[in-house]
Amino acid sequence: MSSLDHFIQDLVVANRILAREDVVDAYGHVSVRNPDNPQHFFISRSLSPELVEREDIVELGLDGQSVRDEKRALYLERFIHAAIFEARPDIQAVVHAHAEDILPFGIAQATPLRPVIHSGSFIGSNVPVWDIAEKFGDTNLLVTNINQGRDLAKCLGANNVALMRGHGFASAGRSLIEVVRMSVYLPRNARALLRAKHLGGDIKYLSQGEIDARNRGYSPYSTETWRAWEYWANKAGCGHLVTRPGNAGSQHERESSRKP
Ligand SMILES: [Zn+2]
Repeated sequence: MSSLDHFIQDLVVANRILAREDVVDAYGHVSVRNPDNPQHFFISRSLSPELVEREDIVELGLDGQSVRDEKRALYLERFIHAAIFEARPDIQAVVHAHAEDILPFGIAQATPLRPVIHSGSFIGSNVPVWDIAEKFGDTNLLVTNINQGRDLAKCLGANNVALMRGHGFASAGRSLIEVVRMSVYLPRNARALLRAKHLGGDIKYLSQGEIDARNRGYSPYSTETWRAWEYWANKAGCGHLVTRPGNAGSQHERESSRKP
């Protein structure tokens, strides 16, 4: 198996993990930038993430169109990924999902979604809310063209996550494992915050210093992060697809080889 095949296999694993962890259901998707061509990215054809196999992965350009002659249907909202990859050269992987627990925070403006638990720190101290209606008026709320994607990417700015009013979220990471981890903990952080609100009183968010301290000790392929990836993959029934760190072609190997 080539190194690119290993890389794409990691994307299959990411699809299954996000499905098993209820971040995505029939809808929602994850993508990863082509490590050999940053102007392209990989994502599944239009298919529920739980069902994604290697053969379902397609390669798209930053305009959201397939770079090959592709007859199969593509995700309508692939422009979210295209526009974020275009706007953020530092980003290697993107998730878009409709996880229910985050939705109230895109609707109610009184309580911002910010980290309240240690594992939620990776979403960052600022989670902007994008409202498609502000620029595009009455739509079906889906991001169905590159202009809408670019407007969302602009709202995301340099942040890790943007909420999409009445719809879902988009998250952006420096690696596939990072964006999966962030997307799994984002709804958990939202649940903890919602429950704390029910208990009443003031909300104590993580301080900026605490968020910074978490990030300082963080490496996308540390033993701790890898432990989560292996755990989630096994739970999703695809532990046998996991490429262990140090194996040629794994995300870990690729990341390591990029370091000066
Ligand atoms: Zn959507």
